[in-house]
Amino acid sequence: MNNEFITLTIGRQKNVALIAHDGKKKEMLEWCDWNKKLLAKHFLCGTGTTAAMITARTGLPVRAYNSGPLGGDQQIGAKIVEGAIDFIVFFSDPLSAQPHDPDVKALLRIAGVYDIPIATNKASADFMITSPLMDDPYEHEVINFQRTVEIRSQTL
Ligand code: PGA
Repeated sequence: MNNEFITLTIGRQKNVALIAHDGKKKEMLEWCDWNKKLLAKHFLCGTGTTAAMITARTGLPVRAYNSGPLGGDQQIGAKIVEGAIDFIVFFSDPLSAQPHDPDVKALLRIAGVYDIPIATNKASADFMITSPLMDDPYEHEVINFQRTVEIRSQTL
């Protein structure tokens, strides 16, 4: 393969981001409680309110970013770019309009760019959290941005 892509490794212990829209917070708390043992093996973070509620409910340490509508989703997106987040559970509410819908779209997009696994509902999260890959390092191909910038700066 040429150098269009680079191989990155998601470690055995994963940096997991947890986000739930208001209409899905109850479901997220129940899901975290049910999967507490599995989640405890990883480093957890989340948008402000979701993170605080998960810690209160389960006792799991969850690093809190800002609340979603106040930029928390964008902070998590930036951490993906830095390579500091490698797994996302995002219970989005498909039945309510969100004031920060552009931020939500941006997070989904940047997760796509960096090939970050992202579960947007409970069934996906159930399948993903029980995957054997959760206990192993995982190598994946991500676009080589250094190379992309070199080419763009020489050709545009
Ligand atoms: P919250 O943000 O955890 O602060 O409520 C979640 C969101 O709506 O993105």
